[in-house]
Amino acid sequence: MSKVLIIGAGGVGSVVAHKCAMNSQVFTEIMLASRTQSKCDKIAAEIKEMHGVTIQTGQVDADVVAETVSLIEKFRPVLLINVALPYQDLTLMEACLATGTHYMDTANYEPKDVAKFEYSWQWAYQERFKEAGLMALLGCGFDPGVTQVFTAYANKHHFDEMHYLDIIDCNAGDHGKAFATNFNPEINIREITQPGRYWENGQWVEIPAMSIHKPIDYPNIGPKESYVLYHEELESLVKHFPTLKRARFWMTFGQQYITHLNVLENVGMTSIKPIKFQGMDIVPLEFLKAVLPAPDSLGENYSGQTSIGCQIKGISSGEEKTYYVWNNCHHADCYKEVRAQAVSYTTGVPAMIGAMLMLTNPEWMKPGVWNCEQLNPDPFMEQLNVQGLPWQETVNEALPHEY
Ligand code: NDP
Repeated sequence: MSKVLIIGAGGVGSVVAHKCAMNSQVFTEIMLASRTQSKCDKIAAEIKEMHGVTIQTGQVDADVVAETVSLIEKFRPVLLINVALPYQDLTLMEACLATGTHYMDTANYEPKDVAKFEYSWQWAYQERFKEAGLMALLGCGFDPGVTQVFTAYANKHHFDEMHYLDIIDCNAGDHGKAFATNFNPEINIREITQPGRYWENGQWVEIPAMSIHKPIDYPNIGPKESYVLYHEELESLVKHFPTLKRARFWMTFGQQYITHLNVLENVGMTSIKPIKFQGMDIVPLEFLKAVLPAPDSLGENYSGQTSIGCQIKGISSGEEKTYYVWNNCHHADCYKEVRAQAVSYTTGVPAMIGAMLMLTNPEWMKPGVWNCEQLNPDPFMEQLNVQGLPWQETVNEALPHEY
């Protein structure tokens, strides 16, 4: 019996619920709970209709530890999958510790009033999870998540020493809206308006937001302008693979997206500082989120594909070697399978795989707090091929992004 409790019923939560239901031999009982229960009910009805599986639904404010504890005590899951927002990571980890429940998420903690994310807050739970005999798996989406599994796989099978890592993330899709973000708008805009950062020669190099960019030639897509961003998996990858001399993260943005973002930034709409409006305190970015399309509404008629991968250069048997591993995913295929767009899909499928491995593979169930690159990548790579995210690789061939 593997009961799972999924928290968060947005774009990603919906995919996780669908994919867990499609693997009901592992996930024998599923509850989807979120702040707004009607969203969970809608997803549950879709799952019943599409896959013939009944899941339970619930209501919870995951900011309040006692509410999650009470829900867990009623449902008694083995594992809680947090696909709400990064703001809830710590309260949900506390609820797991209080009830003896394993934990996983797809994005690292970030305080609501400071646009800053780093692993220190969650790594600080290491001893408490270990002592309780519980596991917390952090950042198990695509990036973070699969990008770390890809890197661990490259390290295990292809290199004696990895030196240069570039994670390259392209969304060449078209949702037909003037401006929308593919995952939670508040979290997305906080991420990309921060200064960029990458790792070089043992230290972080900080750059103004979106100031380094160039076209990268993505497989089956072609060249797309890509920007250096700071992304959370860089922090754990350089810690766990200390031979890396440089590690960067690149993401594509279209001109229309950037123009909208610049205007919104220039007029103060991306600020997280509360302002007074008609006597009320409102946060401009939260207001902006309320008027933008929700990520889970973009799937229908979304065309094109995503391509996310890791290109690595290093040494194997004394020779220089290059390696590139990636997945391409079509928005329309995701919609057909689980009514989602590819950004939610490429996050939700790895979250389900991580949960499946924790519940079925002893190598993936260890007390303590873990990042994805610290675990055996092989069973994860196998499941990516089975569960809808097949990957491809090239060895010693021209790389999409030349050094
Ligand atoms: P959405 O905004 O679509 O969904 C978020 C969900 O969380 C909503 O259902 C929301 O409820 C719920 N929620 C928010 N606050 C609370 C709360 N206090 N208690 C209970 N539920 C709450 O976001 P996405 O689905 O796009 O993203 C989900 C997560 O996935 C985010 O953390 C994001 O950073 C992460 N992500 C990770 C990626 C990766 O590759 N690793 C890529 C993309 C996303 P309500 O509807 O009531 O607002």
